[in-house]
Amino acid sequence: MKITRCATAVVEANYDYTFVRIHADNGQYGTGECFFAPGLSAALRDIFPLLIGRDPREVDRIARFLWRKGSGAGAVAGYLYNAISGIEAALWDLVGKSLGVPCWQFLGGKVRDEVRIYVDCHAGDNTESWDTMLEAREPAWLKAALQGRPQHEERYEPEMYYNRAKQMVEAGFDAMKFDIDSIVVLTGEELNRPLTTAEMDRMAACVAAARQGAGDEVDLTVDCHWRFAPTEAIRIARALAPYNLLWFEDPCPPENYRDVAEIRALGIVPILTGENLNRRHGFWDLITHRGCDLVAPDIQKCGGMLEAKRIGELAEMQGIRFAPHNISSPLGTMASAHVCATLPNFVALEFHGSDVPFWQDLIVRQDVPGPVIKQGRIPLTDAPGLGCELNEQVARKYAKPGEKWFE
Ligand code: MG
Repeated sequence: MKITRCATAVVEANYDYTFVRIHADNGQYGTGECFFAPGLSAALRDIFPLLIGRDPREVDRIARFLWRKGSGAGAVAGYLYNAISGIEAALWDLVGKSLGVPCWQFLGGKVRDEVRIYVDCHAGDNTESWDTMLEAREPAWLKAALQGRPQHEERYEPEMYYNRAKQMVEAGFDAMKFDIDSIVVLTGEELNRPLTTAEMDRMAACVAAARQGAGDEVDLTVDCHWRFAPTEAIRIARALAPYNLLWFEDPCPPENYRDVAEIRALGIVPILTGENLNRRHGFWDLITHRGCDLVAPDIQKCGGMLEAKRIGELAEMQGIRFAPHNISSPLGTMASAHVCATLPNFVALEFHGSDVPFWQDLIVRQDVPGPVIKQGRIPLTDAPGLGCELNEQVARKYAKPGEKWFE
């Protein structure tokens, strides 16, 4: 079996959903998804010639070859791993289809038949779209969805948290996440200073409202996007302790695992981190020093599905649970779900597209009709590969201007 052709396509959704397609000489192809990055399509096009003529069944061999070939662009980390992660998933999809085997089979077999999803609720409103450098943009679908409202209206009113939590419970979710960090930006400053009492009170009021809207049976988490110094993060953790959080996400910058390790050691609230780390090596210090309670690799950028499985197993050895970060389309979400299905320490997989009106329509699952996420779960079946195909009729309508469409 030989790779004959590779191509990309990008959907302009809340982020750039960047797809990789790899064709083989048996007439079949596999599709994977990469986490967005500036210049990603160009990087993929530089990589593709290296794949032509190789045997797509040698998935790990190809991934390791690309790690080495990309060493000049970032030996252990960096956005080249976004590209490699999408390629690796496309290879698994192709090999699975060619053998008639689901991807979860290649990762040791599943230990559960459905994968629990937690929904990202942002700060009560998630109707937004960001370019590869996280600048706000307004594609046509977003303009229509906003109906004249300004984009990304961050008001941080407890009422918004309450309403959103209630709405998500009604939609069938039993786990959800809210942002609390940008509250501090309302003052017009980036944070590198002590929090004021008013800011602390507002955070606590918003989380209290979310808890009230969600009810006591629902798992509630909050994200801080690396905004705080450890001292401030500890103050916040203490303030939020009464609301029984499933985790407290990324309170401090990811560069130094000791920051979160210190907070974790206090045992106030479980700590989750890891969405910006690549490969096992990026997680090594964090996991071996038990710097967190849960790891959150992003499977579209950590190095691929097999690498995510290895990170999950490394975490398991230290009693650390696995709850992957995920902002991808349903295709990338399916790839992540295959990994999650095989790990005993898995807790929940993120869903970040609740306000993208076409999210559920971007893929087709022949054997599982209807929405991709049903009652907060994704069921996995024996369907070969990732068990889904991109719905190109829908996806192409939202193609990013200036990008090729699988040419
Ligand atoms: Mg996060």
